[in-house]
Amino acid sequence: MTQPSMTNILERDIPYLRSLQEANPGLRIITHSNDEYETLRNPFNKNTTARPPAIVVPKNQEELLAAVKYCTSLTPPIPLTVRSGGHDLHGRYTSEDAILLDVSQVTNIQVFPDHHTVTIGPGVQGLPLLQALDAHGLTTAVGWCSRVSAIGWAAGGGYGIAQGVWGLGADNILGARVITPGPEGRIVDTDDDPELLWAIRGAGLGNFGVISELRLKVYKRPRQLAGMIVFPLAEARSVLLDGLQRFSDEGRLPGNFNGEFMVGNTPGIGYSVTFLWSWICDPDTDESLQKGWELVEEFKKFGTVLLNTVGESKFAPSANPGSPRLSIIIDERRSSYHVYIPPISRPPLAHRRLLSSQLFWDAIWPVPAAH
Ligand SMILES: Cc1cc2nc3c(=O)[nH]c(=O)nc-3n(C[C@H](O)[C@H](O)[C@H](O)COP(=O)(O)OP(=O)(O)OC[C@H]3O[C@@H](n4cnc5c(N)ncnc54)[C@H](O)[C@@H]3O)c2cc1C
Repeated sequence: MTQPSMTNILERDIPYLRSLQEANPGLRIITHSNDEYETLRNPFNKNTTARPPAIVVPKNQEELLAAVKYCTSLTPPIPLTVRSGGHDLHGRYTSEDAILLDVSQVTNIQVFPDHHTVTIGPGVQGLPLLQALDAHGLTTAVGWCSRVSAIGWAAGGGYGIAQGVWGLGADNILGARVITPGPEGRIVDTDDDPELLWAIRGAGLGNFGVISELRLKVYKRPRQLAGMIVFPLAEARSVLLDGLQRFSDEGRLPGNFNGEFMVGNTPGIGYSVTFLWSWICDPDTDESLQKGWELVEEFKKFGTVLLNTVGESKFAPSANPGSPRLSIIIDERRSSYHVYIPPISRPPLAHRRLLSSQLFWDAIWPVPAAH
């Protein structure tokens, strides 16, 4: 039996996208009948069950613009959702009734060393961004997970490896190009619309259009320590309350330190409390590296250390040679609690609230028997 061609599949499954395909023959449009559909739909959060009618995968800015223009200029418009890195924990990038625009292949990166800026496409993830900047001796603020898109991270606020030194992701956004919906399918540059710039610095995800490019601040790359320190879950109370909480109360977490802790099932280790740990030296001097090492030693006293991968790193922490397991752990984790540890300049409310919440302790105690 002859297999139906891609055009025939499209014609049968979703005829209203045929004109888009004809005008853009290279554009990938995947429907339920394509073998690739499930692989492409595959959500980070496995509880996300939505099966969009089609997944459109532009590979460059031109195809991205064409897809948005086409869908939003019809009457009535074709509902569209957008996915960059796909790490939204609630799966809000997809819906049963909307075309899924997967922009992960639009990965243009242009570094402007003289201006200390970088321009990125919506598919650029944290680690490739750091690698591109490193070639110029530069770096920037990113989140803890190497696979979250830099745009999804920064335009949603963005805490991570360097907020104590360079601020949140939103603080590092200098400008953006946003494809607004509607018959014109216009690209608005925030240089021409300061209100839009203000809005996307934290509320940019899905609210005002598709962010097709972001301009970010970059920095001369300082020396950094990064990795993780893991303790048994049975010691959670003392590690978090007698250790972390006390340190925070005593003002012993300087801005060079950036951290997050997770409570979850770490592959190969079991149920544990994991600190994601980074230390960024003061710009233009390496003097504070020793202080970073001293803080590592203090953390190690919080409890029984099951794993300590903190080491000097170029790409803290995703590609730290000392912590090859980090991305695996983050990606394979299906249920765990994440708490960002604020730098000393900001009140440690987030983890104070969590630690005092009965829900949290009910959830992690007693330690589940089978692991
Ligand atoms: C393992 C893991 C680790 C994380 N670590 C951190 C961390 O360290 N710090 C932190 O701050 N957050 C962290 N997060 C949260 C994460 O940063 C946010 O969920 C972020 O929005 C994900 O971006 P994404 O592009 O990967 O996700 P997506 O799921 O692709 O998108 C997230 C939302 O933004 C919309 N969107 C996507 N692309 C665009 C675009 N181009 N234009 C307009 N809207 C768009 C989507 O429709 C969706 O609503 C983590 C999440 C996970 C799962």
